[in-house]
Amino acid sequence: MAEEAKKPKIPNPEFTNQVIAEGAETLNLCFQCGTCTGSCPSGRLTAFRVRKMIRRAQLGFKDDILPTDDLWFCTTCYTCHERCPRGVEIPDIVFTLRNIAVREGYMGDAHKRVAGLLTKTGHMVPLTDEYKAIRKKLDLPELPPTTLSNEKALKELKKIVSLTGFDKLVGGK
Ligand code: SF4
Ligand code: SF4
Repeated sequence: MAEEAKKPKIPNPEFTNQVIAEGAETLNLCFQCGTCTGSCPSGRLTAFRVRKMIRRAQLGFKDDILPTDDLWFCTTCYTCHERCPRGVEIPDIVFTLRNIAVREGYMGDAHKRVAGLLTKTGHMVPLTDEYKAIRKKLDLPELPPTTLSNEKALKELKKIVSLTGFDKLVGGK
């Protein structure tokens, strides 16, 4: 039996317009030269190809962007931004896509873990015994003067997290 021909994807300008309206104003300046992908340190280690992601956003291929791990592989180093000949604000486009993804219940696992730590402690990097020992060596108090030692600040942080709904956002799928 002959293999069924693959149906071409249909562009979704509604999603493209949403992405542009939410902060990716320079999206359509991209002419697909590939300089960004050639400069991207994450692309050297993963299958993430930022040029492709930009193209998918231009075409509104939402389902090829929001649920993917690729979206979370950008380290926001800004190398692509510095080299793009068209002035496309690539990391801002990544941020915009991530914001939309999180609202729709998608978030990279590592980012979810870090965001969870932030909502609980006010810090994205946990203060381990190793760090405590380094602080001691430097003649610093074991705990820094932040939410880690200031109960009032921690309470306020938790209030912000709850009022903004950030805790629910990071608890998505
Ligand atoms: S470098 Fe700029 S113009 Fe070239 S593909 Fe990347 S975003 Fe598009
Ligand atoms: S900002 Fe992101 S997409 Fe751009 S070069 Fe750095 S890791 Fe790659």
